[in-house]
Amino acid sequence: MRRIFLAFALLAFSWLYSDAPIYSTDLMETYVPSQFLYHPNLKVRHREKKNITDWNSSEIRESFAHLKKVIFYFKEHGSKDYMIFASSDESAWEILPYFPNDWSTFKQLLIFHNVLSGPKTRPGSLEQEENLAQGYRAEWPQMVVDGDTLTSIDSKEDDPFCDPAALSKQRVFEGEQVDILYNYAPLPIKPKELDFLIIPKKHRLHFTDLAEEEYVEAMVLAQELCNFYREKDGISNMVFYHKTGVRAGQTVPHWHLHVTMGSEKPQKLLQKIDLILRSFYLRKVLSEEELKSRVDQFREELKW
Ligand SMILES: [Zn+2]
Repeated sequence: MRRIFLAFALLAFSWLYSDAPIYSTDLMETYVPSQFLYHPNLKVRHREKKNITDWNSSEIRESFAHLKKVIFYFKEHGSKDYMIFASSDESAWEILPYFPNDWSTFKQLLIFHNVLSGPKTRPGSLEQEENLAQGYRAEWPQMVVDGDTLTSIDSKEDDPFCDPAALSKQRVFEGEQVDILYNYAPLPIKPKELDFLIIPKKHRLHFTDLAEEEYVEAMVLAQELCNFYREKDGISNMVFYHKTGVRAGQTVPHWHLHVTMGSEKPQKLLQKIDLILRSFYLRKVLSEEELKSRVDQFREELKW
């Protein structure tokens, strides 16, 4: 009797939390998840649930192709703006499109709130996910992603991330095709306001303008940052995200991957509200001296 009950419980559990696959390749799959930061969304994950901080370069490459396909799909369906988000203890990216009739500031706030509180789960799952997935699956095989969308210019005027003087104040690590910057207005995350941006050296406006090698290097550096601070300071909460388009909240028109790390999530409602307010409305810009002293310290720490 107990065994039957257990089997039912398991069945109910898997029914509640099942995801509906859309498209798979050797290592990665795109699917409709039962959980979401905002609806609609899609996720791209490692098929063996390998943690995102452990993906090797071929896994990163394959995920890049999956992500571009998702972006292309949403573009064809009216959304050119999007956020792509992952937590370091997960094996998936979540893609959140912004549509022209969305109330985008409110949506940004709600997504941020859900990042802090944890994702939502679709009630009465499976059937919904399956229905959604069927729509996606019908279009996926015929979809041919635009070929070369690379921006032709290497550098752009009036762009802080193409300005050598501005970069020299924020750069904490120089890679081959990408750099790591420290945010001059870091998110107020305890204990050390570890808030980095990884940017391509050449001017790239959107995620889809990135060369594959630029993306791979950016992700490898993001993983190294996480592993470094996990070992050094025991930092356990780390998020990666990037935004394309003003609607989604892209403020600098040069693609950048955010890597933000903290020791714990704010638990109490008041702490959450405080963090949301200070992140969105009362963002503190560091003084020149404070920025320099932090950047000098990170440069010293990150001499890999
Ligand atoms: Zn630029």
